[in-house]
Amino acid sequence: MSGKEMKYIQEAFDGNWIAPLGPNVDGFEKDLENFLGEESHVAVVSTGTAALHLALAMLGVEKDDFVICQSLTFAASANPIIYLGGIPVFVDSEKETWNLCPNAVEDAIKSCLAKGKKPKAIITVCLYGMPYKVEEINALSEKYEIPIIEDSAEALGSTYKGQKCGTFGAISVLSFNGNKIITTSGGGALVFKEEIYKKKAVFLSTQAKDDAPHYQHSILGYNYRLSNVCAGIGRGQMEVIEERVSQRRANHEFYKNIFKNDEGIELFTEPSEDYKSNHWLNAIIIHPEKLKNRDSVFWRLAFAEQNIETRPLWKPMHLQPLFEKNMYFGSNFAEGLFQKGLCLPSGSNLTNNEKIRIENVIKKLLD
Ligand SMILES: *Cc1c(COP(=O)(O)O)cnc(C)c1O
Repeated sequence: MSGKEMKYIQEAFDGNWIAPLGPNVDGFEKDLENFLGEESHVAVVSTGTAALHLALAMLGVEKDDFVICQSLTFAASANPIIYLGGIPVFVDSEKETWNLCPNAVEDAIKSCLAKGKKPKAIITVCLYGMPYKVEEINALSEKYEIPIIEDSAEALGSTYKGQKCGTFGAISVLSFNGNKIITTSGGGALVFKEEIYKKKAVFLSTQAKDDAPHYQHSILGYNYRLSNVCAGIGRGQMEVIEERVSQRRANHEFYKNIFKNDEGIELFTEPSEDYKSNHWLNAIIIHPEKLKNRDSVFWRLAFAEQNIETRPLWKPMHLQPLFEKNMYFGSNFAEGLFQKGLCLPSGSNLTNNEKIRIENVIKKLLD
């Protein structure tokens, strides 16, 4: 927390706006629109998962529709496809951004077309804050006329060629869960390029009530709007978003410095100047053959012994029991990342003492 949040929460209580609407909801949306850029129209909702669910519903995803989705991600990217009865088609990552591999995406599209059904959407992810290959993937979206849902749950504050993540999809999605770069405790947003779609998202997320004195419903609605109390937290957080991004990027420099001479470790970093990641999480790939056979499990346990939490990277969706029958396109790059990768402590509030403790463990492991 920044200390600015309580002021907005107090305003919600003072005005008795304890509801999923009110000045903080409107204000938080304005803050996000100002941050993302003029052409963004934002609808805030209760979670990032709800935002993805609504985005898919708005693109008309129904029973047995194909939706292409990055395999190396958190389950929340894919689960909402199932909520609608759709079928996730998973795709491997490429080596530079660890996000959707353009060749594998095209293979997936062609295979769906051969089955007589064009995918309804492509879900791109900006993994750990890293922008995806925007030009290549968006070109495929145009070529085959399949809209992109950009899952930037982890990437608020990242940019590609100076343009903010959260503005690249036909619909983009953000998350403000407790673990994200800014938080509302739980929260999410849909970002559109046109105001009418924002209005539609607000309508759908507030039970799709028709304009009538009684309760009248012509289409299926959802109760997904963000609480005005939580939106107050969001407004306080938006005052420090740039600071949070700087803190995370400073963590990345800390790790870069530690690993600069080490051939056995690859730190996940931007492939070129075009990419600027918020470095929500820092991840490394461990090559045990160059490190006395100390693999990612050995590393994780060495940290755990010092009471420092690290975690394997996301387990790819196509390897999850839940999705074992789903189609998958690509090779085994994402699977290799899962086996060899480790996420390191990356919180915005890492102290110098904590960094020294982390560095000591790493130095011993590399010794
Ligand atoms: C966190 C996350 C989500 C879901 O957001 P919630 O607000 O937790 O529902 C979706 N996709 C990715 C990649 C995430 O990291």
